Amino acid sequence: MPLVTLNDILPAARAEGRAVCAFNVVNCESAKAALDAAERESQPVILQVFHRLFQDDKARIVAALARDLAAHTHLPVVLHLDHGQGLEQVRQAVSYGFTSAMLDGSTLPLDENIAATREAARIAHAGGLSIEGEIGHIPSAADADVELPLSTPEEAAEFAAATGVDALAVAVGTAHGFYRHTPTIHTDLARRIGAEVSIPLVLHGGSDTPPDKVRDLIGAGFAKVNIATEFFQVFLDQVRLQSERLAGKFLPIDLFMNPVTEAMSDLAAQKIRLCKTIGGRSRHTGCCAKR
Ligand SMILES: [Zn+2]
Repeated sequence: MPLVTLNDILPAARAEGRAVCAFNVVNCESAKAALDAAERESQPVILQVFHRLFQDDKARIVAALARDLAAHTHLPVVLHLDHGQGLEQVRQAVSYGFTSAMLDGSTLPLDENIAATREAARIAHAGGLSIEGEIGHIPSAADADVELPLSTPEEAAEFAAATGVDALAVAVGTAHGFYRHTPTIHTDLARRIGAEVSIPLVLHGGSDTPPDKVRDLIGAGFAKVNIATEFFQVFLDQVRLQSERLAGKFLPIDLFMNPVTEAMSDLAAQKIRLCKTIGGRSRHTGCCAKR
């Protein structure tokens, strides 16, 4: 089926107390691993492309891969710009055939973030894309010891109403990458934000956040869970392992990559199972029941 937007899958996920995994993809293997996992678990999936890949031709190439993968599955697939840096990247996402974009204005003062995100929403919606915004900057785990302001229910409600975003990333203690210490995840704050804001919330830093905390956040209204670091780490570990097994001998790289892709798909399937768990039970509904 053709690529869909966040609006086609996230409101239903939030209403049912589950979340859709968003995997960062950079090439054929990572995109195929994410989609294979979605098919194994019969769940929708978001393929997202980090803003750095928009600095050369990689985002355009990955977009073509994602369109092809979506065309050959019955599952809903979203192609999303991750942490878009400015309006020009949102326009690029529109022109490359993305169906969703994020404008990350989280390092700006709130009023400037609102103004930039509102304009990004206008561009995205005019192009038929959904749009994600962010308030209360979510750090990398390496910086997580630094005291950073958390999002508040009031600013989340103000931001959502003023910008027209379709999904909202908020800072409740998660961080990007691997944590150096056990993180403090503010689940009470997350619940209060979820009570104020009806649009789906987005969990950045889904990689290393403890599973019970991820489930708590899904229960609070987080319906998109981003996974990048852990997914990429599996790639690096498997490439190292396969290289050691090869011991200097030749192997065509499509064959070399097969076990790497399978290992990434296993990790992705594990994450999808965590996010589709409702009340401690796995449920095969969502996309399949909806269609
Ligand atoms: Zn992020």
